[in-house]
Amino acid sequence: MADFYETLGVARDASPEQIKKAYRKLAMEYHPDRNNGSKEAEARFKELSEAYEVLRDPERRARFDRFGPEGVRGAGPGGFQGGFDIQDALEMFMRDFGGGSGGGIEDLFGGGRRRSRGGARNRKGEAVRVTLPLTLSEVVSGATRRLRIRLLDSCDRCNGTGAADGAAPLPCTTCGGTGEERIAQRSVFGQFVSLTTCRSCSGEGVRISSPCGACHGEGRTRSESEIEVEVPAGVTGENYITLRGQGNVGPRGGPRGDIMVLLEVEEDRRFSRDGNHLVVDVPVTFAQAVLGATIMVPGVEDEVEVELPSGIQSGQALRIRGRGVPELNGRGRGDLIARIRVWTPEHPSPEQQELFRRLREMEDPAPSHAPEGEGGAGGRRGFWSRVKEAFTS
Ligand SMILES: [Zn+2]
Ligand SMILES: [Zn+2]
Repeated sequence: MADFYETLGVARDASPEQIKKAYRKLAMEYHPDRNNGSKEAEARFKELSEAYEVLRDPERRARFDRFGPEGVRGAGPGGFQGGFDIQDALEMFMRDFGGGSGGGIEDLFGGGRRRSRGGARNRKGEAVRVTLPLTLSEVVSGATRRLRIRLLDSCDRCNGTGAADGAAPLPCTTCGGTGEERIAQRSVFGQFVSLTTCRSCSGEGVRISSPCGACHGEGRTRSESEIEVEVPAGVTGENYITLRGQGNVGPRGGPRGDIMVLLEVEEDRRFSRDGNHLVVDVPVTFAQAVLGATIMVPGVEDEVEVELPSGIQSGQALRIRGRGVPELNGRGRGDLIARIRVWTPEHPSPEQQELFRRLREMEDPAPSHAPEGEGGAGGRRGFWSRVKEAFTS
């Protein structure tokens, strides 16, 4: 039974960044183009890619953590319907690490994107990237979001064939209908001859003699679509969600590609995030800090009642367990950390001033160093030193 963490050689709590790094390193090592097409390397490359495909997707990683490999096979959006083949692995690698123009891995390997052996097939639609901004409260509760994006859909006029009425496609003259071209390539690994996608027909093996006027022979046109994204609780901006087979249709009847939803967590005015812990500043008055009080600490979803111990110092923090961000794998939650700020009256009334003067008269000698902890003589002196600071600052 495959353990995807073992496959990539990462710990079970590895960060998305660590997983990506581990995959990139191993995938470069076992990439078929770097191993003269060795079947062994190809199999390993496929395994690595399959593991990465699951672990980089927060939702599927969570399912894998809970249910093992069975939890991520063939189930729901993003399951491997019909299996994960070497073609998928290569495309995935290109998509994530291909780089685009100049100096990308496509250039490095010189091979370009390979087609499955054994003839032409319909090209899959290109992956679409879309950014989804999330509020902290959506991260804490999880969310179902609907997004409107423009996608390439099958052309209505030609039914996606790309051919004007009645025009039958002819076999491509460049590749004779195989969809592949033999081509001499130069790369950092030296010159070699490789099979690549036919450039005339993009691997489809056919040529359109009389293109459809609406889509210019592409077989697809752009239109507005609505997609639904399930965002699991606990994600970060490092995570992304893949909607397999929901993106652009391929040219002339090719299957739909994927949509990659990149997540962007908006800054929150009140809370700062430390992993799955949330830190919030809570102002309390002098009297509350000295005497103790029951205070309300704001959480992301609701307020939490907390006992403020007497004699707490400004800057000390109270940990409220399990009120932070849920773990992405569904086990437990981080904590809410209330950082206490003792609030100093800015405009004390004459009455308050009189009371503070009386406090000053009762004050012990100030401690020579910052007191540590609460209680005992140190804590008591700490309080008086705070009172003194309030007058001298
Ligand atoms: Zn058309
Ligand atoms: Zn061709």
